[in-house]
Amino acid sequence: MKYDVNKKGFYGEFGGVFIPEMMYPNIRELQDNYLEILADPGFQEEFRNLLKDYAGRPTPLYHSARLSELHHTNIYLKREDLTHTGAHKINNTIGQILIAGRLGKTRIIAETGAGQHGVATATVCALKGIKCIVYMGQLDVERQQPNVLRMKMLGAEVIPVYSGNMTLKDATNEAIRDWINNPVDTHYIIGSVVGPHPYPDLVAKLQSVISEEMKWQLKEKTGREAPDYIIACVGGGSNAAGAYYHYLYDNHVKMIAVEASGKGIDSGESAATMVLGRPGVLHGCFSMLMQDEDGQVTEPYSISAGLDYPGVGPIHSHLFKTGRVKFDHATDDEALKAAFQLARLEGIIPALESAHALAALEKKKFRPDDVVVVNLSGRGDKDLATYIKYMDSFL
Ligand SMILES: *Cc1c(COP(=O)(O)O)cnc(C)c1O
Repeated sequence: MKYDVNKKGFYGEFGGVFIPEMMYPNIRELQDNYLEILADPGFQEEFRNLLKDYAGRPTPLYHSARLSELHHTNIYLKREDLTHTGAHKINNTIGQILIAGRLGKTRIIAETGAGQHGVATATVCALKGIKCIVYMGQLDVERQQPNVLRMKMLGAEVIPVYSGNMTLKDATNEAIRDWINNPVDTHYIIGSVVGPHPYPDLVAKLQSVISEEMKWQLKEKTGREAPDYIIACVGGGSNAAGAYYHYLYDNHVKMIAVEASGKGIDSGESAATMVLGRPGVLHGCFSMLMQDEDGQVTEPYSISAGLDYPGVGPIHSHLFKTGRVKFDHATDDEALKAAFQLARLEGIIPALESAHALAALEKKKFRPDDVVVVNLSGRGDKDLATYIKYMDSFL
């Protein structure tokens, strides 16, 4: 079985390029250049140096003794929460800002829902002194004020979008429109393994540093490079893709992806795409998608803004379909419980997204000698208001 993207941008039946004709020149420029840039030693040196000295990599692989004891196995946390800006998203934006530079781009656009990708993009634009425009639905602007303020402090221009539901989908449409109108000087930084080819492959390769580090860190700590399980949460799927990447062809490594089932799979308020979705086109690629009978995208819901997405990257649809990755889901309540548990057991407050991955530990029976890696995709500072609201119910 192959898990890599093919020349046309497909993983099995999923992926591809489904975009307006006018956007083709931009996409083709990226398709024609990204692999060569990624392979260039000069790019690699600059990328690696920034990951190390700016983002704080390698992130630790932490043996969580008390969580291990609780689940009668060996649990390691890959600490993406300790990166600069507090989540794995910075790995991707550092890589893409360097690619933009090599393509001669002087202006960056991005879209953001919760604001996390917007902040990671504004951060690297400040670092490189490049103009940054972030499209954000007006509803999200209201809901995510701290991140809007962060982006502004970092020098980005946040443009509120008033069309449609005034959320992520509408912000994406606006970003695409901008790119079509500014094809020469602008690069569009997409924040997950979604969008038209080559974005899913590009973002997966930039995030693959996560599993690259896991290999030598596990070897150092356990004597072997490969764990028995890797568990990661999936919104679009970039932290999961990065955590799986270098193990995909090692069938000994079992992989669990955790989606957000919100208030429950059948509640109508959920974001568990693999259970509730069927194939369709969103944001320029063919993948599993939550939609109604007429093919209208269903509004997703999760307590965690980063998992509140109606689709999933095409690589994950392929990994799901082939059975390589098992898809699980966790509710709001299960994620909250796991977050409070980690805070009290280990002194680590996880992002609500990452708490979904932790929640999967409860449901699985591990052997005492299993090595289990949970990708702790981000830290929970941004979720503190939500946690405080539910504190009494979970302690
Ligand atoms: C954005 C985000 C996610 C979800 O995005 P993926 O592309 O699925 O990784 C998960 N965790 C954190 C902390 C995030 O900020």
